[in-house]
Amino acid sequence: MSNDLRQRKPAMRNGLRHRCPKCGDGRLFTSYLKVAPACEACGQSFAAQKADDGPAYFTILLMCHIAGFMLHFMIVYTALGPMATALSISVVVLVGSLLLLPRIKGLMIGWQWADRLHGF
Ligand SMILES: [Zn+2]
Repeated sequence: MSNDLRQRKPAMRNGLRHRCPKCGDGRLFTSYLKVAPACEACGQSFAAQKADDGPAYFTILLMCHIAGFMLHFMIVYTALGPMATALSISVVVLVGSLLLLPRIKGLMIGWQWADRLHGF
């Protein structure tokens, strides 16, 4: 095991941008959520990543808080009916979840790489 220092913030920022946590150039994903076997730029293997249910958990956690605040503000400050309120919140939660999920997965893989978790 080498002793070179891995910075957590840049690695997580690169993951957030769907880039290799090590070099920041190669793509992290081959499709929406499928992690590439290795970085195309520096060769860093991503086989050790184990994001598992973490990205889904954090996405649900964030989106449920947003939905809860939206529900409160829409009931208190708008005159929308229940169906319009539910539809509005559902659209925001659906789009937000689809946008957040791969970003949170990349962020978690960057964190795992920086902290040498799971054999990185
Ligand atoms: Zn790389």
